[in-house]
Amino acid sequence: MAKKKDIAIDYSSDWNFAPAPESTAHIKLKKKYDLFIDGKFVKPKSGKYFETINPATEEKLADVAEANKADVDAAVKAARKAYDNEWSKLSGKERGKYIYRIARLIQEKAREFAVIESLDGGKPIRESRDIDIPLAAAHFFYYAGWADKLEYAFPNRKPQSLGVAGQITPWNFPMLMAAWKIAPALAAGNTVVLKPAETTPLTALKLAEIIQEAGLPDGVVNIVTGYGETGSHIVNHKDVDKIAFTGSTGVGKIIMKAIAGTNKKSTMELGGKAANIIFEDAPIDQAVEGIINGIFFNQGHVCCAGSRLYIQESVYDIVMRKLKDRMQALVVGDPMDKNTDIGAINSKKQLKVIEDYIKIGKKEGATVYQPKCAMPKKGYWVPPTLFTDVAQSNRISQEEIFGPVLAIQTFRTVSEVLAKANNTPFGLSAGVWTDKGSKIFNMTTKLNAGIVWANTFNKFDPASPFGGYKESGHGREGGLHGLEPYLKFDA
Ligand code: NAP
Ligand code: MG
Repeated sequence: MAKKKDIAIDYSSDWNFAPAPESTAHIKLKKKYDLFIDGKFVKPKSGKYFETINPATEEKLADVAEANKADVDAAVKAARKAYDNEWSKLSGKERGKYIYRIARLIQEKAREFAVIESLDGGKPIRESRDIDIPLAAAHFFYYAGWADKLEYAFPNRKPQSLGVAGQITPWNFPMLMAAWKIAPALAAGNTVVLKPAETTPLTALKLAEIIQEAGLPDGVVNIVTGYGETGSHIVNHKDVDKIAFTGSTGVGKIIMKAIAGTNKKSTMELGGKAANIIFEDAPIDQAVEGIINGIFFNQGHVCCAGSRLYIQESVYDIVMRKLKDRMQALVVGDPMDKNTDIGAINSKKQLKVIEDYIKIGKKEGATVYQPKCAMPKKGYWVPPTLFTDVAQSNRISQEEIFGPVLAIQTFRTVSEVLAKANNTPFGLSAGVWTDKGSKIFNMTTKLNAGIVWANTFNKFDPASPFGGYKESGHGREGGLHGLEPYLKFDA
């Protein structure tokens, strides 16, 4: 009997989309950004500035202040004063009004924020426009709603604010991570000192402008830019009550050691190595889209990226063929072009990390596949990459690469794939693709992951808690669970 040919789209032809670049004419960027302390932009006591560049062109976007210990001290003092004199005395309803105002202002300026996010970080405009910025606004809306309902959220527990929250964010979702942290802190009645990542500080500084415009009392939110050292000054400051950190597991461990034995509360959102699991009864075309979205979305700069793929043996050939076909159609290039699927790698340093892992994968004996694709001459780029013939012990299967690199293995049984999926130091997220609801429930209870997506991947909602197990951290952000770490309770 002739083999049934399934209908596949022919991606092999030479046609291309016409360029559709987003305009940058409407954005306002200063040449130089100072620190945002006590409601004003102030010159750094360090006297130092560093450059933030556009990783797609390697051109400088702005100079940004580098906060030293004295600058962090000034920011913490301002936050303490604002907490004692104003913010802790306001009713929840009044706090909520300010947070709603921030949410609305983000929506009003969404297009400007999206463009700046893509310029500073390299992510495709389609993602910053449709995901990062709308979700950031949604988090402020969501937590604004809780500000005057804390007693209902935690009945009979007498929730109280903590004081000053020190918050440190990574470069992969700069604005969204700032929203994840600032919105619940303010709703719970705390004041904030936030440090964005060195390579992507601009949207946090634009958020500082919004905070001024929203008329928040001076010192309620302070934004100090700088390198890792600035972050460690926040972590080690005696007058900070809570550390909220999102970043690598390595830095998370340093922070946990630094605050051990102190009264500081902590939430740690760290690295991941998610397993995306495709069963033979899965809707294959949707699953292939989910794989693509899971690992190539945002250049794989996603803590919960589906960086390990487990395919049930009986559908391996068809999944691989469709996956390779689909990869061939991905557009790598100008982040400002609305057709772009994979933008620029965030920094030269991260480019080297990813390139090194690709070399390691080859050396370990895995087989590499990269579709042919033209890439710009300037800037930092990696084509979508997959590895087959991967062993469970290979470094590309165990370590976080944080780039568009997928490690693929097969499995036969549920218990085999569970053992493989759980066999990493991480436990942030996972994906399951199957037609059977019972299989989904079985898998979700046995996968050691904070988030398990079923027949979808990389979906976020402000009402839904997010966080990991094992070396992926502790504590949750989002939902009611994300409010709790910013509160203390009598009962
Ligand atoms: P990173 O190197 O750990 O940096 C994160 C933040 O910490 C940056 O602002 C960094 O400043 C700062 N920092 C560095 N050293 C510090 C220290 N000793 N004390 C205090 N702060 C310090 O991580 P990244 O490369 O920016 O981000 C990628 C990582 O974030 C990945 O591992 C990813 O999985 C993780 N991530 C996790 C989640 C989650 O929710 N679980 C979400 C997003 C990202 P500089 O950048 O200026 O050095
Ligand atoms: Mg930059």
